[in-house]
Amino acid sequence: MTSTDTRDVAATVRQIHSLQEAGCELVRAAVPDLEAAQALRAIRERISLPLVADIHFDHRLAIAAIEAGADAIRINPGNMKRSKLPDVLSAAEERGIPIRIGINAGSLEKDLLERHGGPVAEALVESALRNIRLLEDRGFTAIKVSLKSSDVPTMIDAYREIARRTDCPLHLGVTEAGTLLNAAIKSAIGIGTLLYEGIGDTIRVSVTGDPVPEVRIAYVILRALNIRSVGPDIIACPTCGRCEIDLLSVVEEVERRLEGVHEPLKIAIMGCVVNGPGEAAEADIGIAGGRHAGMLFKKGKPVRKVPEGDLVTVLLEEVAALTGRRKP
Ligand code: SF4
Repeated sequence: MTSTDTRDVAATVRQIHSLQEAGCELVRAAVPDLEAAQALRAIRERISLPLVADIHFDHRLAIAAIEAGADAIRINPGNMKRSKLPDVLSAAEERGIPIRIGINAGSLEKDLLERHGGPVAEALVESALRNIRLLEDRGFTAIKVSLKSSDVPTMIDAYREIARRTDCPLHLGVTEAGTLLNAAIKSAIGIGTLLYEGIGDTIRVSVTGDPVPEVRIAYVILRALNIRSVGPDIIACPTCGRCEIDLLSVVEEVERRLEGVHEPLKIAIMGCVVNGPGEAAEADIGIAGGRHAGMLFKKGKPVRKVPEGDLVTVLLEEVAALTGRRKP
């Protein structure tokens, strides 16, 4: 999701391009007012990613966003005037775009909070089912659903239950997950658990601040579950007293220089011969550290010894040779 002011078209487009470069396939922008809704037209013209408009409360913003070319809208029908919902559904139907029902633990209906004693999984599920019915009763079926909570077990329980009770596609996320480390771990547990069980159709990692790391974390989750392999998978040992090279510097530099590479590659950067050759044997390229040097492996075969100072350069040259790209 973009973090720019949507009314600032240039900044929003710039951020969407950065997100796309990182591998984002679907982007959402907040629409807090009419000016933001209207800005979507200029944004849409300058990007190639599908654009989802995020709207709360005001049906007029939803209709304006649809008219401005949004590819989907995210609403919480429960916080929109019931009598105006048909207008929103007609506009979406006319343009053939889907609606995501975005249930969030922070904005649940009052009666559900009271009945369930707080924003628990059952309350999220009941809200989702209620809102799905609201749209389906009016003949609108192009629906996607999310039930986000900042509490990971609540989110997991809620998605498991809704997956049993509806065929609607599900958008997964742990909401308000915090800064980088917290967001990565909470999302990996929440989204990862569900994906591993076969639940979920799209995902969003929520990170406070720059959204580009959201995409990187999402791909690490997908790669860890063998769902999608985009970009290099860098396997690195934690190092120990046997390591005789500055492994951390090599790994960090290689990771940094390969940020724009999207080809799936397995690179093993290992500190010594204990596990180095074994891991390197499974990788496209590998290094097993020795005394101020490393043994280069290609497709499991030892190739040559490389001085420590040349390890980064040699690894990047090998990546370039494998991907057909210029050296990153
Ligand atoms: Fe230690 Fe070698 Fe294992 Fe790395 S690969 S953690 S240096 S034993």
